[in-house]
Amino acid sequence: MSITVFTNGTIWTGVSGNLIVDALAIEGEKIIALGEDAKKHVGQDVTQIDLAGGMLLPAFGDGHAHPLYGGLESIGPQIKGAPTLDALLEIVRKFAQDNPDKEWIVGASYESWHAANGEFDAKWLDAVVPDRPVVLRANDYHTIWCNTKALEIAGVTKDSPEPPLGVIVRRPDGTPMGTMREWGAVDLIMNQLPENSRAEFREGFKVSTQTLAASGTTWVQDAWIDPGMPESYMDALANGLLGVRYNLALRADPFNWRNQLDWFASARDLVGTQSHLTCRSIKFFADGVIEGGTAALKLPYVDAPDSVGMPCWDWQELKEAVATIDSMGFQPHIHAIGDDGIHAALNAIEYAQAVNKEKSHPRPVITHVQLVDPIDLPRFAQLGVIANFEPLWACNDSLQSELTTPRLGQERAQWQYPIKSLLNDGAAISFGSDWPVTSQKPLECMTIAVTREHALSENPTPWIPDERISVDEALSAYTAGPAFQAGDETRRGTLQVGFEADVVWLDSDIRSIAPALIPTARVLGTWCLGKRVFTQE
Ligand SMILES: [Zn+2]
Repeated sequence: MSITVFTNGTIWTGVSGNLIVDALAIEGEKIIALGEDAKKHVGQDVTQIDLAGGMLLPAFGDGHAHPLYGGLESIGPQIKGAPTLDALLEIVRKFAQDNPDKEWIVGASYESWHAANGEFDAKWLDAVVPDRPVVLRANDYHTIWCNTKALEIAGVTKDSPEPPLGVIVRRPDGTPMGTMREWGAVDLIMNQLPENSRAEFREGFKVSTQTLAASGTTWVQDAWIDPGMPESYMDALANGLLGVRYNLALRADPFNWRNQLDWFASARDLVGTQSHLTCRSIKFFADGVIEGGTAALKLPYVDAPDSVGMPCWDWQELKEAVATIDSMGFQPHIHAIGDDGIHAALNAIEYAQAVNKEKSHPRPVITHVQLVDPIDLPRFAQLGVIANFEPLWACNDSLQSELTTPRLGQERAQWQYPIKSLLNDGAAISFGSDWPVTSQKPLECMTIAVTREHALSENPTPWIPDERISVDEALSAYTAGPAFQAGDETRRGTLQVGFEADVVWLDSDIRSIAPALIPTARVLGTWCLGKRVFTQE
């Protein structure tokens, strides 16, 4: 087996007491030496990598993302970041023209600010593609915009009733406008789509793996798996397209979860135990989002005194479901954003641990963790719950200042993303991206955890500054944190002799630059299980 030795840079191990070393040696899939011991391996037939004053650290993990959706964006019209609505429509028109054989035009992800209130009209798409169905996902992935042909095929009309857990946006005369919110409504359209072809899925996985590896990530939690997707993952694995590691979270349906239990078990059996693919988790949506008024709150929204949001589950049913999958050995991965949603998620985990006792499996995950009632904070550490944050969101951007804070009021607004509070309590933390909802690049996201400043703001001021964390804490939340979430902390996530060689090489030492400049560092190389999966050209 060939040996590679890294020298001439800052090597951050993630292990306190031995945090920085100056050399690291790997052989095959494993780390074999650190520091002076590693330098002894330098010699003939050994690959030596000169870090050139940069930094080597454990490769990043992403505790919550949608990598297949991220990858599949590449096969549709490239509307993400279109500067204007007209530009976006022109991209769709050109794509349809260039792809005459595509039965459906499917794309992602548009920004909702292109239209007032995020309400997009089917007629705008009809003007560029009148004869074939078009459906575009918004960048929140909870909303779609489709044309009239798509509405017709789905049979959505003026007379369609409001679906449970969804909203059909309508014109004043009651006809569907073309914007559908939340999956109760979204699925009316999406269920009509032809399956992606095997070739399309493969392209999606290829792009996903390349994108993650290029940002230094070698483990990702895929937080939304529906039937059919485990088979696509297995096909990608068999074809060598999973160059980084993926864990699958099978999505539990609040109304039908009891009938899904066989599928949960068979999907896990299908995947088995692979170095690059596991199926250990079940995804629950406890609630929605605050900006949409759908996150579950203990007290009403300031702007809607009759509403405490839209819980996705009957809370007793959530307890039963979490306890059931916990007893099957699955890890719950619960989307919870409002203080009542988070409270209910903690209750469900507490219940599962009480009824399953020693059979109960550790490391439940609550993801997003936006609004935490201070009285619920200690329960994370007490119950051993991993708080998975998407730190890019923890700043005073326009979504926060214009939509979220006004809906919560000033007092509750201060409870958001309590990263430092949970660390101080001794709770386990992991970071993630929610890609493609927001950037998958850990360097862009972690800077916000450290500064709590909006990168594009002209006069950046830290938002809830007491919740800022150090660069070392942010690095741990992107390395050891996700490894712990994956149950892999005894074999990767930190740099130790005998551990698997998942490492990332940055062009500068991000501990020695201003935290706001962390995103300017470049990833030069990424290794997964000792194999180089990304090289900066
Ligand atoms: Zn998500």
